[in-house]
Amino acid sequence: MADNWAICPRCKQLVTAELAALKDLHYGTIPEQEYLNLVAKVEQVEETSCRTLGEHYEIGIQDNEFRISYRGACRVCGFSKTFDVKEPVRDKSGE
Ligand SMILES: [Zn+2]
Repeated sequence: MADNWAICPRCKQLVTAELAALKDLHYGTIPEQEYLNLVAKVEQVEETSCRTLGEHYEIGIQDNEFRISYRGACRVCGFSKTFDVKEPVRDKSGE
């Protein structure tokens, strides 16, 4: 299970482009109020439909090593990102 569901940058890009095309298609062809309703729905979809990036992360010290670990993977488009940092822990006398 993911620690967090974030907005996937790739899905967001695709959805934004598709929705922009949808808005262009209807601009001037439907009554103004209907168009404004459509735009409001489009903005809602942009905000909610792209939370598909499952994120797992940990930060802390283990076995004298400071570690930051991140894994993000989209369950829709397959976009993924990993990030790892490990650094030996030194106490003050070692500096
Ligand atoms: Zn995605």
